[in-house]
Amino acid sequence: MDRPVSEKAVTLYDIGLNLFCAQFKSPESILAAAAKAGIGCILTGSDMEEDLRIDDFVRTHAVYGTAGIHPHNADMAKAADFDTLRRILMENGRVVAVGECGLDFDRNYSTQENQIACLKRHIELAEDTGKPMFLHERRASDTLVQIFRDHPEICRRAVVHCFTGTRAELLTYLEMGFMIGITGWICDDRRAAALRDAVSVLPPDRVMIETDAPYLTPRNVPGLDRVNVPWNLPYVLDTLADHMGMDPVRLAACTRANTERFFGIAGHPAAADATGEMEAN
Ligand SMILES: [Zn+2]
Repeated sequence: MDRPVSEKAVTLYDIGLNLFCAQFKSPESILAAAAKAGIGCILTGSDMEEDLRIDDFVRTHAVYGTAGIHPHNADMAKAADFDTLRRILMENGRVVAVGECGLDFDRNYSTQENQIACLKRHIELAEDTGKPMFLHERRASDTLVQIFRDHPEICRRAVVHCFTGTRAELLTYLEMGFMIGITGWICDDRRAAALRDAVSVLPPDRVMIETDAPYLTPRNVPGLDRVNVPWNLPYVLDTLADHMGMDPVRLAACTRANTERFFGIAGHPAAADATGEMEAN
């Protein structure tokens, strides 16, 4: 069991880190470097294997996690998987959100029918466990909105992570109550024009930031290492602050407060205290 990470207080939270991707040879060293940089991490769970690994890992490491089935994996979801997810979410206070789940009609790795059914099962989990939702949406905004119109209470405790849409889509999400997650996509001069326009109307109390590492390395990171890391998060913060017309220090404080409020967390958890008790929510 490692010691609580206390080198530095959390200054920023990375709400989307895919720690168990093959690109990261040593999860421990990634987390240690993130902690040194003052970055607190929430590990994204996207399939059952990863969810079970996170369920174990967060009990002995100073991080939080989510548990869910990514829309890419919806074709593989079995009824029993949702019983397992329910158990993890109910029993593990460090697993702080339902997801990653949602709709991806861009790549359609799973059928749209299965993606929708899988998302609805996750909404039931959020309703039953009281935990917030970590949502993925790509080219599926209309359908996502249609589904969540029936669940207004859940919208107010759900984040649309890695938002890359238009100003109109953003305004709809905000009106419904969603939080918005912004990644290094905002740093990409080639494809972020619509997103940069959108975030100019994003209220500071509705935004959180994330790397989605090892994916989506911000284009303004010197050297452009193709493997993204949590300590690239300040590049996301600075670029976002620029396009929101805000002081980055103030935006950092806002995203930190939003993250702690939204996920019901505060600072690095003490790894030694992980007993599976419900300390969040
Ligand atoms: Zn995603």
